[in-house]
Amino acid sequence: MTIFQRINHEAVEGIRCGRKNNVNTSFIVYRFGDTVIDTAPSNQWRYIKPFIREKTIRQILLTHHHEDHSGNAVNLQQLTGVTPMAAEGTRTIMEQGFSIPLIQKYLWGKSPAIRLAPLPDTIELEDGSTLEAIAAPGHAEDMVCFYSSEHGFIFTADLYISRTIRYMRDDENLTVLIKSIRKVLARDFETLLCPHRGVVLQGKQALQEKLNNLLELCEKAQHLHHQGQSVKQITRNILGTEDGMSYLTGFSFSKRNLIRESLKVTL
Ligand SMILES: [Zn+2]
Repeated sequence: MTIFQRINHEAVEGIRCGRKNNVNTSFIVYRFGDTVIDTAPSNQWRYIKPFIREKTIRQILLTHHHEDHSGNAVNLQQLTGVTPMAAEGTRTIMEQGFSIPLIQKYLWGKSPAIRLAPLPDTIELEDGSTLEAIAAPGHAEDMVCFYSSEHGFIFTADLYISRTIRYMRDDENLTVLIKSIRKVLARDFETLLCPHRGVVLQGKQALQEKLNNLLELCEKAQHLHHQGQSVKQITRNILGTEDGMSYLTGFSFSKRNLIRESLKVTL
């Protein structure tokens, strides 16, 4: 384990760390001046701690409760004296605590319960510009993105990750996700800051491509469904047979989840 990447994009800094250096198993914690966006997985604390110590931190924003984003909320609060802010849905989940499947616990560690501070709709940054908190459910019900119209970037949480997706969690809602992608695409931005993919320079175009690819997938899946094919058959025809990732997670992260959801989308 190590720091895989140091990120410097204009005033945005970040470090990528994780168990393995690829998109799905690593995480980037971003910082803009004295504002930190997400807290990174708890099993990476030894790398996050020195990064946070480099500057005085005034505010910490959480995009959603998932353990790779929230894992160090308690650690950060203890280190900086700052209580992370989050949307109401995230606050409720984090206050109660939530269970994490074994494989995710191995990958990211745990996420201790914490009482978070309320998140305003507009967050002021160190340079006087602001971030707009945009509710963007679908991947997780409680997720928000943070958009800067002044700087033309957006912290997308797990809205983007990739132009094409082949798997879905069993608690994701594709119909709602598509609606959130459209909502974000209505904003004017150039750069997308994804905690897994990294800095995506033509970010709006990339997110638009993701939307197009998802709609195309839905159309194909629904066409095969009308021909009488089962979810299993459609999955095999469009995405291929389930593989290691699906079996490892007991199908909670699988191709069939994506196909099942794609049949529910109204085109
Ligand atoms: Zn997530």
